[in-house]
Amino acid sequence: MSYLNRDISPTLFIIGCGTPTPTPERFGSCLVLNIRNEYLMFDCGPATTHKLAKSGLKTTDINHLFFTHHHYDHNADYPCFLLCRWDHEKEGIPLLKVYGPSQTEQITQKLIGPDGAFADDWRARVEHPASQQVYAARGGKIPRPKPTFDVRDIEAGEHFKIGTAVVSVSQATHLQPILKSLAYRVDWEGQSIVITGDTGKTDEIKAFSRRAQTLVVNIWDFQENMTKAMTSGFCGTLDAALLAKESEAKRLIVTHQTPGLCKPGAREKAVSDMADIFKGEIIFGEELMVIHLN
Ligand SMILES: [Zn+2]
Repeated sequence: MSYLNRDISPTLFIIGCGTPTPTPERFGSCLVLNIRNEYLMFDCGPATTHKLAKSGLKTTDINHLFFTHHHYDHNADYPCFLLCRWDHEKEGIPLLKVYGPSQTEQITQKLIGPDGAFADDWRARVEHPASQQVYAARGGKIPRPKPTFDVRDIEAGEHFKIGTAVVSVSQATHLQPILKSLAYRVDWEGQSIVITGDTGKTDEIKAFSRRAQTLVVNIWDFQENMTKAMTSGFCGTLDAALLAKESEAKRLIVTHQTPGLCKPGAREKAVSDMADIFKGEIIFGEELMVIHLN
């Protein structure tokens, strides 16, 4: 069952809420924001496609995908998501638009372009008679179109209008210059959400997050476990709380927690530490959580 076509309030689905270390409860990053039946996905970490299904979402519900950066815990399920969405496309499903920092176009080509690692997958589905029969049996028309997506490398400062929402892009400070990293802000009908991705607590991100109703911060660990080198490119618990306080956000959601931070007792301490600084609502993110943003 899909959430599509239901009249639901603006909603955030936490699909992936972990780090590069898999645990039974969490692995990698992915968020889906639903605003008036426009589904915007942010990152596509490990097992995203499967976790979308667990959340009641279909790949074809998602028409816009934004990458924060290209670490594998944020993009490893990308080929699976692209091929699955293409494989289940029907007439009337819009072209998927993909946006991300430089490397996004190149990675896409290397995965599913004509010489990409997965080209023989889709070529077999397009050209082999057995696959054509399966495709025709479920209503597809032969010749079957090959996978096509609208993929763009984008930069900080750009804006995108999607339905009633405007998506703005800022630079995030993570592991430059090797990996460019972006943060996103979505404003609609007087509401707003900022998705920081992996970043240190910078003045740029603070200004970008100004008065956001919801601030989603990827954190790493307790502040006392963060070294100086780490905090230049990641937030600890107190960095996230300070960012929420100083930007005057209303609600803080923390995601991307290390396994140690999620142990019973540790998570309560993390929330308590953050609540000493930030007096708004604090949500300790969990995979498959559905948060109504009104
Ligand atoms: Zn990262």
